[in-house]
Amino acid sequence: RNWPEMGHVIYNRVHARYAATLPAILHYVSIDFKPGMKVGICGRTGSGKSSLTLTLFRIIDTFKGSIHIDGIDIGKLSLVDLRSRLAIIPQDPFMFTGTVRFNLDPEERRSDAEIWEALEVAQLKELVRDLPNNLDSMVHEGGDNFSVGERQLFCLARAILKKTRILIMDEATASIDVHTDAILQEVVATAFHKETVITIAHRVSTILDSDQIVVLSEGHVAEVGTPGSL
Ligand code: ATP
Ligand code: MG
Repeated sequence: RNWPEMGHVIYNRVHARYAATLPAILHYVSIDFKPGMKVGICGRTGSGKSSLTLTLFRIIDTFKGSIHIDGIDIGKLSLVDLRSRLAIIPQDPFMFTGTVRFNLDPEERRSDAEIWEALEVAQLKELVRDLPNNLDSMVHEGGDNFSVGERQLFCLARAILKKTRILIMDEATASIDVHTDAILQEVVATAFHKETVITIAHRVSTILDSDQIVVLSEGHVAEVGTPGSL
């Protein structure tokens, strides 16, 4: 496994915006996500939580300041390189039009056995086994033949197969799905035990056992601390 080996993410006075013509939505954000830390991000709707994580993928433009992962300025990497090394379970999880296999392992780096193993961990094994063509079944555009919870679990299986050091989870607000949530929590505690995990939390229960909590307010870091200290 090469970069990132540690999963050390440093935001250094990040200012970010969706487009050059739009106002900044993150201001002076400095956060040190230590390797292996479980960090919860919270804050009101519109405070910039999702945007903060999207800067990691350079979906949003960091126009001032920098983000380093294991000492490398992500602004200097190619987008393909950068995005293939990080994994996200988005608020509105998406799937590609293509087979289930393609969705789980777009770079075709894993064996069928590895894919089934990841599906088992994400508790999707039975669902895929019951599809007409198993791993070769087609996913409809956007994944609308699956529920939001199922799509999140597919994103989780994809993250497991990526063997990423850094996982970002953006809890879905619309569908509070207790079953999916329980699986996500369990997998983070086991399969991602050693990895850096950044979780955007809409439920207090999700962040109670974080190592650190970052509270955002209007695009600023308002508070950083342990769950007990806040
Ligand atoms: P929520 O809890 O509702 O998910 P959030 O904390 O994730 O909220 P963001 O989605 O990061 O908030 O939004 C931060 C700011 O960026 C808001 O002012 C929002 O209007 C703006 N914003 C979000 N998405 C876009 C976009 N695609 N284009 C332009 N501005 C956007
Ligand atoms: Mg959001």
